Amino acid sequence: MVRCGSGPKPREGRGIFFLLGIVVGSFLNVCIHRIPRGESLVFPPSRCPLCGHRLAPADLVPVLSYIWLEGRCRYCGQRISPRYPLVELATGLAFELLYRTCGLGPGLVTRLVLVSALLVVAFIDARHYRIPNEIVVFLAIAGVALNFWTRELSWWQVPGGAAVGGGILGALALLSRGGMGEGDVKLAAATGLYLGPGRQALAIFLAALFGAVVGGVLVLLGRKRRRDPIPFAPFLAAGTMVACLWGDLLWLFYLSRAGLA
Ligand SMILES: [Zn+2]
Repeated sequence: MVRCGSGPKPREGRGIFFLLGIVVGSFLNVCIHRIPRGESLVFPPSRCPLCGHRLAPADLVPVLSYIWLEGRCRYCGQRISPRYPLVELATGLAFELLYRTCGLGPGLVTRLVLVSALLVVAFIDARHYRIPNEIVVFLAIAGVALNFWTRELSWWQVPGGAAVGGGILGALALLSRGGMGEGDVKLAAATGLYLGPGRQALAIFLAALFGAVVGGVLVLLGRKRRRDPIPFAPFLAAGTMVACLWGDLLWLFYLSRAGLA
């Protein structure tokens, strides 16, 4: 991922990618619910996660159904997790931000695939403390295939990014003796295929920084104890997105501060 925004900055179609994102986000919700349970993503059709009642089209309008039904299932009246509208809104905002930053082009497709898979992984890891292999394999295959199309990274940057991601987290996993899981190592190797070595190093640095800040705040608030495990994928996802969107700017800032540029 050499640069973001090779195309002209879009002036038209603003908001369209937000709408596309909330529709995709509603499918990501299905992935977040079903993949850890080993269920098919296609069958059966959408059901209430609480009572199992089949949902009608009117129940499936992203975000709006949740607001209209005041966060409750129409059939059983139980509270539905706010995660559903949250994932939809987050996907919508991420898609719109990527479109406005990158413009229309192959690079945008790569980033939309990456952010979608990262949202699924982040929410599953936050809830279940594990990173499903299926998603890592999907990310890895899609990353290599998309780069054949976009040619954003040179031939050595793709495996180079994976080696940096897997290498740094693999070393941390050995040093922390279980603090960092095998899933985190594989995930960082897969996201490295999209970023290349430099940006992947930046992504991991940012992820560790975000994790330390959020973990520290949770300990201070008494929500976690110092030794409690904290899922790493949400932070790696955030670090990857920042590195992918503003990585060049951050590098330039760092180099100018260090007196190197
Ligand atoms: Zn229900």
